Amino acid sequence: MNELQLDDFKTDENAAMVLLVDDQAMIGEAVRRGLSNEENIDFHFCADPHQAIAHAVRIKPTVILQDLVMPGLDGLSLVREYRNHPATKDIPIIVLSTKEDPLVKSAAFAAGANDYLVKLPDNIELVARIRYHSRSYMTLLQRDAAYRALRVSQQQLLDTNLVLQRLMNSDGLTGLSNRRHFDEYLELEWRRSLREQSQLSLLMIDVDYFKTYNDSFGHLEGDEALRKVAATIRDACARPSDLPARYGGEEFALVLPNTSQGGARLVAEKLRMTVEALQVPHISPTEGSNLTISIGLATITPKAGSHCRELISAADKGLYLAKNNGRNQVGIG
Ligand code: GH3
Ligand code: MG
Ligand code: MG
Repeated sequence: MNELQLDDFKTDENAAMVLLVDDQAMIGEAVRRGLSNEENIDFHFCADPHQAIAHAVRIKPTVILQDLVMPGLDGLSLVREYRNHPATKDIPIIVLSTKEDPLVKSAAFAAGANDYLVKLPDNIELVARIRYHSRSYMTLLQRDAAYRALRVSQQQLLDTNLVLQRLMNSDGLTGLSNRRHFDEYLELEWRRSLREQSQLSLLMIDVDYFKTYNDSFGHLEGDEALRKVAATIRDACARPSDLPARYGGEEFALVLPNTSQGGARLVAEKLRMTVEALQVPHISPTEGSNLTISIGLATITPKAGSHCRELISAADKGLYLAKNNGRNQVGIG
C-alpha cells in the first residue's frame, strides 16, 4: 500500500493544484484566466474565508494563494490555521498582499507563509512560483511516503527476523528449544554462573523403554507421546530463565539457572510424577504400565577454566544411575 502511494506521487510530480482564497471574485477570475493555458495546473477558487480550511481539506491543494485582507477574517489568522491543521500544515502558502510592506511581509512569514506576492502579480512570475512551491511540496510528500514505506519494511524485516530466530531455535516436533539453542544457552548461563558464582543446575530427561513404545504403538503414537512429555517439561519451568529443550531423540534437557541441587530435585521429582500421572499406557516394563521418565540431575558452581560439558556429563551420570536403579526416578550425578 505504501509503495502504491509512492507511485501515485511519482506520476503527479509536475501537476499543481492551486487554491486561491480571496473575497474578491474579480481577483479569482483574473488568476483563473492567467492559469487557464497552463498545463497540469488545476485551479480552485474560494471566496469565503470561513470555508477555506474545509475547502483545502477537500481538494488537497499543492499550493494555497491566500489574500491577506478579507472581511470578517484576517488572512494571517487563516495562515496560522492552515499551519495548525494536520491536513494543511505543510502546504506551501503564497500570501497575496495589496502592497509591498516590510511589516506585513515579516508578519506573514512569521505566521507560516512561504512566499509573498503583491497583487496582481505578473503571470509569468505567478506561474513560476506556483510550479516551484508545488514541486517542492510534492517532493516532501514523496519523501514522507518513502520514509513511511521504509519504516513499514524495517518493521516487517524485524518481525520476519524474529520468526526466523524462533524457527531456528525450536524443535519441529515438540516446539521446545532445539539442540543448537540448548548448547548456546547452556554455554551462556555457564559463563554467567561463573561470573556470579551462582549454582547452575541441569536435568537430563530420558523416556523409559521408548523403543518398545515405538515398536508396539508405532512411530506416530511415539511422536504424540514425545509431545505430551515435552509439554509437561515446558509446564515445569517456573522461571523465565529456565530453558526446556529437546536434546535429541527421546531425550530432553532442562537448564535451571540460579538453582540449588535441592531446588532442582524438587522440579525433577514433580516432573517425574506429572509424566507418570499422564497415564500414557505402555507395555514396558510390564503389561498395563504407564509411560515414565528417568531424570539425571547435576548442580555446579563453575570454576575458572572449566567447561559446561562437565555439567552435561554429571547429569548424564545421574541419568545412568536412575536407569540402572530401575528407571522412573531421579538420579544425582
Ligand atoms: P531406556 O529406558 O533405557 O531409555 O530405553 P529406550 O528404549 O527408551 O532407549 P533407546 O535409547 O534404546 O531408545 C530410544 C528410542 O527412541 C529409539 C527410537 O525409536 C525412539 N525415538 C527417538 N527419536 C524419536 C522420535 O523423534 N520419534 C519417535 N516416535 N521415536 C523416537
Ligand atoms: Mg535414550
Ligand atoms: Mg529412553
